[in-house]
Amino acid sequence: MNEQATPQPWQWEDEHWRKLVGHVRAGRTYRPKNWKGGARCALALSFDSDHETNELRDGGKSIGRLSWGQYGNRVGVPRILKLLEKYGVHATFYVPAVAALLHSDEQRRVVAEGHEIGIHGWIHELNSVLPHAAERDLLLRAADTLEQITGTRPVGIRTPSWDFSPNTLAIEQEMDLLYDSSLMADEDCYELLLDGAPTGIVELPVEWVRDDAVYFTMHRFQSLRPHTPPREVLEIFRREFDVAYEEGGICQLTMHPHIIGYRSRIFIVEEIIRHAKAKGDVWFATHCDVAAWAKTNAA
Ligand SMILES: [Zn+2]
Repeated sequence: MNEQATPQPWQWEDEHWRKLVGHVRAGRTYRPKNWKGGARCALALSFDSDHETNELRDGGKSIGRLSWGQYGNRVGVPRILKLLEKYGVHATFYVPAVAALLHSDEQRRVVAEGHEIGIHGWIHELNSVLPHAAERDLLLRAADTLEQITGTRPVGIRTPSWDFSPNTLAIEQEMDLLYDSSLMADEDCYELLLDGAPTGIVELPVEWVRDDAVYFTMHRFQSLRPHTPPREVLEIFRREFDVAYEEGGICQLTMHPHIIGYRSRIFIVEEIIRHAKAKGDVWFATHCDVAAWAKTNAA
């Protein structure tokens, strides 16, 4: 009979919780005095082109949900690209390898139009449930696949669902990535520490408050409809931008073609771009460019 019960969190030794907290941490801040061209603030727009992998990742086979994924490719991405082109703005698209294989022409177009493509897992798997070898294999293959399709080796990653395993950072280090954009310890860029040691990897932080999905998704079979009106989402994003501008920091947004791409929501992206353009000294940049600038020019 095994009498040895697993200790509860309140019974943990100090060393145990210190080790958990200290494994992946924010190190020094990468905050430049000025952004490129003397800009006061950087605006980094990102779009996670999950498409059909949102259904496939959990083993789902729903034809309806797969069609929603296809909308992201047929309507969402083209509408977003048209808008970005109208304002001459470059953004970053994070694409799971399976979505890139399903929609290779889309990825080639995104890169041809001057945008960045970053790693977003293989099939939008959760890293924290994978053994180390499987996670490593999928991330390496995802990077190879994106490079084969677009001709450009990705230098940054957004882990699917921002899910991070205890091994993720070491794998990113092994892959020699410039940056990660999955964690939340700041609003400025910072250096990631692994067990207290500097990794040289830049974190370009995300947050749910700057993610369209939390405001617009719903559960089909529950009466709860947690929709925030699109105008309210614009207001939240604009306030995020305004304070970033005041502080001389970064306004980073995470959006999804199958969520923000709709006729009644795309104005949010356009209004943010127009609002930022009106300031006159905002640097619109890809996540790669923001991370590289922040690291190189940190004050
Ligand atoms: Zn995603």
